[in-house]
Amino acid sequence: MSYTLKPGVVTGDDYKILLNAAKEGGYALPAVNVVGTNSVNAVMEAAAKNKSDVIIQFSNSGGQFFAGKSLTDAFEAKVLGTVSAAHHIHLLAEKYGICAVIHTDHANKALIPWVEALVGYSENHYQETGKPLFSSHMLDLSAEDIDFNLSECERLLKRMSPIGLSLEIELGVTGGEEDGVGSDEDIGADNPLLYTQPEDCLRAYQLLSPIGHFSLAASFGNVHGVYKPGNVRLRPEILKNSQALVQQTCNTDDKPLDLVFHGGSGSDKAKISEALSYGVFKMNIDTDTQFAVSKAVGAYVEENERAFKYQIDPDDGTPYKKKYDPRVWLREGEVSMVERLDEAFSDLGSNGKSLAK
Ligand SMILES: [Zn+2]
Repeated sequence: MSYTLKPGVVTGDDYKILLNAAKEGGYALPAVNVVGTNSVNAVMEAAAKNKSDVIIQFSNSGGQFFAGKSLTDAFEAKVLGTVSAAHHIHLLAEKYGICAVIHTDHANKALIPWVEALVGYSENHYQETGKPLFSSHMLDLSAEDIDFNLSECERLLKRMSPIGLSLEIELGVTGGEEDGVGSDEDIGADNPLLYTQPEDCLRAYQLLSPIGHFSLAASFGNVHGVYKPGNVRLRPEILKNSQALVQQTCNTDDKPLDLVFHGGSGSDKAKISEALSYGVFKMNIDTDTQFAVSKAVGAYVEENERAFKYQIDPDDGTPYKKKYDPRVWLREGEVSMVERLDEAFSDLGSNGKSLAK
């Protein structure tokens, strides 16, 4: 099947078309964490350059950063910053000629109110425009008891589904820094917490799929961040087994679960391809794009050291305005982020596959 969508923010049934096209086409979309207009624009630029659709995502602290670090009501800043960012994308994504999904990343138990507040903004936006402000939200209660995890996902999805919002859930803990489960010691391949059980995926599917659309971040040895080699063993067959169990038990089509790959930085390319073949349509990227930005800015500062110390060189009177103008070095960071994303689009096979027409 070949599908087309209008360029711009994609929600509801259009989001399902986007992810089904990825699963059918054997590719995945990068989901890039962003913290401000520089990184948002770099993601849209990279998507346009690679003719790929893309997922733009905010952590709660990324949203807060968007609003400004000085705001003293941190909760309000997390909400308003994320809302502001979403409006920025609604205004501009169409101009980049690609489809953009707006998603929020990990929300643990303490952050449920953040997600609920954002859903409230989507409800208002839906009243005004017929579309939610966001495309999907993640609720990551994988550190909690599974009964609590699933009942909260059920409660939230019941509210989100009528306005076309999708929910990403997590079963099994992705190791690494972001979740606070991580050191080089406890991310080892033998830690059972790091592997999702297929039976739990089946339970989630049976509970949630009648209510609305959900996607599943399953843990198969993946970790957030980049760690010393040899400590992580990816076992994508866990994804395959989960798909097979749901398909057989519920008598569904092939690959019924819409799977998400967290913590893919530094993964072996062959394991990435294998994971995609089992129905992964979204792969998160954060650590590597952060480093890409900082590396380029660092190199620029090193090369133009004196422009970061003097407005006018005290020795020879050279004016440095054209070098210290923040637009110049921020752009260096954007260009480097775009280059790193070229690699991500190519690893995930989504280049040239944009549905936007
Ligand atoms: Zn994650």
